[in-house]
Amino acid sequence: MKLPVLEAPAGQNWSCHGCSKCCRGGLLITLDAADRQRILDQNWSTTDGVDPASMMVPHGRGHRLGHQPDGACVFLDPAGRCRIHARFGEAAKPLPCRLYPLTYHPSGPRIAVGVRFDCPSAVANRGATLSSQLEALRPIAPSALQGMPESVPAPMLFAGVSTDWPTFHRVLRRLDAVIAASDVPLSQRWIRGMHGLAALRKAGLGPMSGRDADTLLEGIFRGALTSAASAVTGSGNLTVVARVLLRQQVLDQARRTTVHDLEQKGRHRWLLLKAAIQFLSGSGNTPDLGAGFSKVSFNAVESMTAGTSPESDALLTRYFRVKLQSVAFCGVGYHNLPLHEGFLALALQQAVITWLARWHAVSAGRSRPVVEDFEQAIQRADHNWGHGRNPAPVLRLLVQKGDLERLCVIQRLRS
Ligand code: SF4
Repeated sequence: MKLPVLEAPAGQNWSCHGCSKCCRGGLLITLDAADRQRILDQNWSTTDGVDPASMMVPHGRGHRLGHQPDGACVFLDPAGRCRIHARFGEAAKPLPCRLYPLTYHPSGPRIAVGVRFDCPSAVANRGATLSSQLEALRPIAPSALQGMPESVPAPMLFAGVSTDWPTFHRVLRRLDAVIAASDVPLSQRWIRGMHGLAALRKAGLGPMSGRDADTLLEGIFRGALTSAASAVTGSGNLTVVARVLLRQQVLDQARRTTVHDLEQKGRHRWLLLKAAIQFLSGSGNTPDLGAGFSKVSFNAVESMTAGTSPESDALLTRYFRVKLQSVAFCGVGYHNLPLHEGFLALALQQAVITWLARWHAVSAGRSRPVVEDFEQAIQRADHNWGHGRNPAPVLRLLVQKGDLERLCVIQRLRS
């Protein structure tokens, strides 16, 4: 079989440092028939520390890996090692465990490799560069793309506007350059990207080819700078509706669900409903979500000023550039959204992360979020990236009233 050619975001490192956070963090691992059979054939018993009756739980028409009562994987031993890996080797583990935290998405003739930032090593940029590992990752790539046709069409540029891969890549490179521009505050980079895309839609260009296409695109984005600058100065106050929508998105991204939660459906639903009501009202205290996100007052979180330091700015820039370059923000990589809506979803994710960084900072008794708060916020928010609700309806509401732009620039959510 011909292996696909892979590509990886520049400037992102990752190696597994064996912290076992992923195995303790409530990941819901769906098993395909081959994974399930392999585990059954491994003949686990209670004397191995694994209860065969609870090692897999029904999920829809298939199964998931079981969890221990604290949300850790049923195969995690007390020393923090995977029992399957220890006894049978890496290849004997379920496919999602072998892939984590790397992601694989079609990118024209290549496969774009990315990394999930709920892994502490990815957030800290520790290990070998992703680009140096591409040859080693090639053999597993076809399994990662299981079920996808050999040739996946490019994500739409805008709702109802199809394009080809070369044009998609051109626009993607332009957006990546906008987000990478470290001489411009990150908040303004989002506005520039949004206005550039609006100008592109207005121009109504079809697929672009030829040497002049990049220059044309750059000209369209440059032409949008004036409207972007006036949008920043006229940002105004955030509406109450926007604050509520943002908090709902925060909850959707920050929640954790274990297999035990799903088994105790009534209790889990009640806790989720209670948290949803708390986040809807935004009064009183947040729930305690653990791992540094304690019970604190909503008012303290939303009245905290959250500017970024050069370190947190660099971290956020790297995170968003990885999402862009690994095509993990649109198309099959994210709710099948067009590139435009996927970019807006990233802008909303920036607001979600900043909210969580404030929450983490308040929990730690700080008056402003520092880079550590942003690291924890990114880990928390990225856990559910692509697995939560499709944010398209929320984005439409926020864009209609100009609130998404305000969310990008406002440093305090309430006075
Ligand atoms: S969280 Fe990341 S570094 Fe830790 S064990 Fe999992 S993959 Fe390795």
